[in-house]
Amino acid sequence: MNIGILGLGLIGGSLGLDLRSQGHYILGVSRRESTCQRAIALGCADESSVDISLLAKAEVVFICTPIGLIVPTLEQLIAHLPSNTVVTDVGSVKTPIVKAIAPLWDNFIGGHPMAGTADSGIEAAIPNLFEKNPYVLTPLPTTPPDAITIVEKIVYELGATLYHCSPEDHDKAVSWISHLPGMISSSLIAACMSETDTNVLQLAQKFASSGFRDTSRVGGGNPELKVMMARYNRQALLNSLQQYRHNLDELIHLIEHEDWAALEQQLQFTQKARPKFVD
Ligand code: NAP
Repeated sequence: MNIGILGLGLIGGSLGLDLRSQGHYILGVSRRESTCQRAIALGCADESSVDISLLAKAEVVFICTPIGLIVPTLEQLIAHLPSNTVVTDVGSVKTPIVKAIAPLWDNFIGGHPMAGTADSGIEAAIPNLFEKNPYVLTPLPTTPPDAITIVEKIVYELGATLYHCSPEDHDKAVSWISHLPGMISSSLIAACMSETDTNVLQLAQKFASSGFRDTSRVGGGNPELKVMMARYNRQALLNSLQQYRHNLDELIHLIEHEDWAALEQQLQFTQKARPKFVD
């Protein structure tokens, strides 16, 4: 199948690597000529160009640009596509994107691979990024079944675990497990950096090990992506942050009142709950 990838960064480049290895012919389009050349050299695309009209030959196009550019890019793209081309995107927020694109392109289905690293750009592309990770599709009742089937087949080829839900439920769910952790992890780093005793701060930086590595990982990732999540999933993220502030206040209260039994009960509850989210 001819598959187009628009936006050759971490996600677009990684998709290109895996889909090429499945035998698909990958047409890559990105903003910078140097990225297009690197995409070919790294094996992320068979042909690559800054000219969006290259994608006229694609049967399916994955839009993998930063969130804020997905809709404007689709608007440019559709002038070059035959009406049967299936278009999907990988944006981390779904409601505003699906709402804006559905009236413009019938064969569109929103998507979100739940996989990433702290790096960005074409050099960050890695093979098997999506394998065994969730990949969410957010079709509408009006989405043509053939378009859904074609994208589902590609998702299975990536080795990902497929889920369907509405764009609105997707955005609320990812607010809890992706957008909220991004903000909490950033605040954790900021709180540690507020230590005014330089000796203590330096010691903390030297002592930081696996626990801090795990809890600060997403806070150390791509800032542009986190700003986009906050901008485009603002209400759900605010709800999650307000609930989180309430949970923090409860912890502070228990510790201030030296209520160790209640604190232990709370920590037992979270210890039991964690495996419901991740292994
Ligand atoms: P990224 O590494 O920064 O890649 C985005 C790429 O888009 C850039 O490398 C850039 O390539 C290209 N680009 C920028 N403007 C463009 C334009 N106007 N036309 C064509 N290409 C353009 O970001 P990413 O992490 O792959 O994220 C891409 C999308 O995936 C976002 O919508 C994000 O929400 C979603 N997503 C990200 C993650 C994650 O953890 N990172 C996970 C799931 C989904 P040039 O070098 O050519 O400028």
